[in-house]
Amino acid sequence: MTVNASVINEELLPFLQQSPTPVHATATMLKRLVAAGFEQLHEEDVWQLQPDKAYVVTRNESSIIAFTTGRGDPAETGIAMAGAHTDSPCLKLKPNAIKPHKAATQFAVEIYGGALLAPWFDRDLSLAGRVTYVDESGSVKDTLIDFRKAVAYIPSLAIHLDREANSNRTVNPQTDLPPVLMQVPEDDTTRFTDLLTDQLATEAPGVRVRKILGYELGFYDAQPASLVGLREDFIASARLDNLLSCYIGLQALIESSGDEPALLVCNDHEEVGSMSAEGAQGPFLSAVLDRWCGTGRARAIARSMMISADNAHGVHPNYMDRHDENHGPLLNQGPVIKVNHNQRYATNSRSAALYRHISDELDLPYQTFVVRSDMGCGSTIGPLTAGNLGVTTLDIGVPQFGMHSIREMAGTRDGVTLFRVLREFMQREEVL
Ligand code: ZN
Repeated sequence: MTVNASVINEELLPFLQQSPTPVHATATMLKRLVAAGFEQLHEEDVWQLQPDKAYVVTRNESSIIAFTTGRGDPAETGIAMAGAHTDSPCLKLKPNAIKPHKAATQFAVEIYGGALLAPWFDRDLSLAGRVTYVDESGSVKDTLIDFRKAVAYIPSLAIHLDREANSNRTVNPQTDLPPVLMQVPEDDTTRFTDLLTDQLATEAPGVRVRKILGYELGFYDAQPASLVGLREDFIASARLDNLLSCYIGLQALIESSGDEPALLVCNDHEEVGSMSAEGAQGPFLSAVLDRWCGTGRARAIARSMMISADNAHGVHPNYMDRHDENHGPLLNQGPVIKVNHNQRYATNSRSAALYRHISDELDLPYQTFVVRSDMGCGSTIGPLTAGNLGVTTLDIGVPQFGMHSIREMAGTRDGVTLFRVLREFMQREEVL
């Protein structure tokens, strides 16, 4: 089946829009997988996996694993695995969320991950996440919530009140970032949970809330994702790192033949080190492989490969010197094989070679990134998964600008290239 860039991008835009938080991204992927015939499993149940079937399971509603069992035994064929992460840096609400103030009521926020803070100012911010409540029957339940409209804003301080703003402005996360929510009269006693209850009534009219017990909510840019450039060479959106990879992995698995054992894992908490029950340092993937492969697990892993997809830094035209001159990836010139011999990336010559081989067969471009030798190197879930499972791993990603900004930019042609290679990888008769 031929899939062109415009089809991938047309569907990517609403995917990004429907996925403002890791729980929403997971719900969006789950919905697509179930619609494509994947059977949903639950970790607390007994599993009786069948050959030639497709399954999906989530943990904490924020990490997801989908797999096709294929016709063969994974111990004989290996498993073609792809990985990505569902989370992105953002501002999350503190538990006591409201900061009353006579100028305007504000939210108390905590920075999640390594957010680039300056771009959060002067944006229309919406709010989404998960709310936990007790219903009329006394049961404790969770539901997802998304205000979908601008409910808050972090105004810049005018240049007249800070003459050094263009040369010397810093951001204090405690005092400069609380978003403005609303103006309320002094005698107003509205609690934040009252606002959440009203929102729940709007989004889920059947839900009867007795009391809100907790929430995990994050702000996001209300501006929708869009194609940018005179020739629409670019896509601009929040959370391209790393929902673009989640989406590409998802489409590759759904559109692969399903004849071979293949798997997609998208973990939460990559931006904060991955150590959590559902993070890539946790046991989620390992537990699923145990239940799928049983005593054949070690043999299956020895024949498997993980392609860990996470966006890469493209060469920014205003800051060319931030890249090694021979290893600076360009937007729209193909996915980027990430190499770091100090194992900040798990790529080795063999995993890189397999990727290049598939790309060559499909006549598709690729690039290679190595960080400047005088700069530190980022990392991702690849080395963690490789270290936990002992699986041959490749770190790759499409190049982008503005990583960890509230609005990032990638090329419109790189995603479809990665999709084609991943789909081919997932339907090879032998992985390695
Ligand atoms: Zn990332």
